[in-house]
Amino acid sequence: MLIDLHCHTLPLSQCSSLVPEELVDLARERGLDGVVLTEHDSKWDEATLAEVRKRTKFLLLAGVELTTDRGHVLAYGLRPGQRSLATLAEAREAASADGALLYLAHPARDGLLRMDHEIVTSVVSVEAVNGSDTRLQNVATRGLAHGFPLPGIGGSDAHTLREVGRAATRFEARIENEGDLLAALRSGKYEAVMLD
Ligand SMILES: [Zn+2]
Ligand SMILES: [Zn+2]
Repeated sequence: MLIDLHCHTLPLSQCSSLVPEELVDLARERGLDGVVLTEHDSKWDEATLAEVRKRTKFLLLAGVELTTDRGHVLAYGLRPGQRSLATLAEAREAASADGALLYLAHPARDGLLRMDHEIVTSVVSVEAVNGSDTRLQNVATRGLAHGFPLPGIGGSDAHTLREVGRAATRFEARIENEGDLLAALRSGKYEAVMLD
């Protein structure tokens, strides 16, 4: 299954110009089997998401992209709720309490690879393919993923129509809900792919 693990939509990410229904239409058209909404510092509530899922008949899940003192971190499996996670240490604590997985987002975006002991011991891997980064940035990041317990993930980081479907993660397992996604991530049986 091809799932985009990194997308932004309105109204939770004000920097995006997409609403979930638009994103789903394009994702389906461009060959994806599912998308995970990773809004900045907020997570869609399950009831709203379930409604959109029912209406669109498309796999739509929620993660979150946390803004931390060590850069952006993609989190899957965090419980929704108002928590201030301003530091990577706090994100790590929340992730371990919730059984969530953290991946360092677009590690090469700022022109240097952000990597040190704190990061290496806080995340399970990195976002190895980001559809909004350059080819060179993605080449650098792919190598980085080899040093972590799990493979790197892939996502479009879509904020507009243009980026939808550019990158994704290919899973061996069948994924129908957040629990399946977490199990599939933990299994390590997936790979990051660039799609255009
Ligand atoms: Zn980001
Ligand atoms: Zn993002």
